[in-house]
Amino acid sequence: MEQTFIMIKPDGVQRGLVGEIISRFEKKGFTLKGLKLQTVEQSFAEKHYEDLAAKPFFSGLVEYIISGPVVAMIWEGKGVVATGRKIIGATNPAASEPGTIRGDFAIHVGRNVIHGSDSVESATKEIGLWFPDGPTNWQSSLHPWIYE
Ligand code: UDP
Ligand code: MG
Repeated sequence: MEQTFIMIKPDGVQRGLVGEIISRFEKKGFTLKGLKLQTVEQSFAEKHYEDLAAKPFFSGLVEYIISGPVVAMIWEGKGVVATGRKIIGATNPAASEPGTIRGDFAIHVGRNVIHGSDSVESATKEIGLWFPDGPTNWQSSLHPWIYE
């Protein structure tokens, strides 16, 4: 089953959005396979966002991510990478649809509350970085009520 890496950024934690965000993924029917609250080092944030190192916003982005604890999660389900991105909404909250997390809870691209892997390949890489011991192995008893 497909897995994605989701991170509630420091603004999402500070603003008390952790429960709301987890609830949206749970209610959709996805399964939580990893969860931790953690403050990361600069070098770790740089590694997570290494593909964006040449961007002008990179140093500000890294400062933002290390500015407080984040909630790192693994979510599992059919199509969870692409659907997770839809639940999150467009990168710039000015363009995020209402009903998405960024559309409902954010205004500025530099404080957009949440990260989600953009492909299955990125998800594998990010889960490996954030959860070196891998996901927590369990089966939700709701499975037959969510999948035919
Ligand atoms: N970002 C920013 N300014 C920009 C573009 C991106 O501050 O002009 C930040 C924003 O927090 C975004 C993150 O950099 O979520 C990673 O950018 P990416 O293009 O990967 O967007 P995402 O995958 O998070 O939607
Ligand atoms: Mg991205």
